Amino acid sequence: MKTVFFSTGGRAWWKLLLACTGAVVALAALGSLARGPVPERATLAPASPGPGAPPPPRLPAPRQAPPVVTVARPGDHLVALTFDDGPDPRFTPQILALLGRYRAHATFFVIGKEAEQHPDLVRAVAAAGNELAVHGWSHTSFQRMSAAAMERELVQSSRLIQRLTGRRPRLFRPPYGRFNPTVLRVASGLGLTVVLWTPGHDPFDWAGALPGLIVQRCCSRIQGGEIILLHDGGGDRRNTVRALGTILERLRAGHYDVVTVSEMLARAAGPEAGAGAGPAPAPPRATGSGSR
Ligand SMILES: [Zn+2]
Repeated sequence: MKTVFFSTGGRAWWKLLLACTGAVVALAALGSLARGPVPERATLAPASPGPGAPPPPRLPAPRQAPPVVTVARPGDHLVALTFDDGPDPRFTPQILALLGRYRAHATFFVIGKEAEQHPDLVRAVAAAGNELAVHGWSHTSFQRMSAAAMERELVQSSRLIQRLTGRRPRLFRPPYGRFNPTVLRVASGLGLTVVLWTPGHDPFDWAGALPGLIVQRCCSRIQGGEIILLHDGGGDRRNTVRALGTILERLRAGHYDVVTVSEMLARAAGPEAGAGAGPAPAPPRATGSGSR
């Protein structure tokens, strides 16, 4: 055969080549059958189940509610003032006095370790009808924290607030407004609604804005449902205190009631929820970003 193979050219050579190729392909196919089918790509769809087979398990899509940034309901003339980073013995009492003068109620997102240092201030905030909410224990950004560390901060802060006021906090604002899906999941698992602020209503008091500018940024473009970011701690807040009287005056002139975030959520959820049920998810417009 070898002699024939080499000595005969043309047609005989091609016949032999085709025969050999056919044999190789056939052997390969047999080997493939022995091993079972091999998917060409990892992205191949799974084989469909045979008749009577149970349907494949469906994994739930882990979607957490986005942070609340506004709670608008047509006809409501409500605005929520929020104060972060306290309590602070220099500024929190002055802010409480101003709120009381205007029969206004605000939400205080306190830092756990500050609240621990000033328990009487926490009680005073609650006793005046304001809402206490969680802003973390150490004011560390949650963005790069492990889920376990987040949980420790939130549980420790919530327990302290509950111990001091007798009420379990319902709201959490992550420090610096920074969050990720894990923050939303951990907070939600602990029964905390994540609240930021309405875009355009961070008056930058944390950055030293003058009182006139704080008033302007707080009070312009108010339509009802806004959550306004202010600070009663974390630095020199004299400008915030100076601005607050004018802010409350202007909101009163515009016939806006200044209420806590939870009250705004409850009223937006309807009369049934307002009668005592917990806050319902609000229609968020967008997420805030940037500051504290
Ligand atoms: Zn803060």
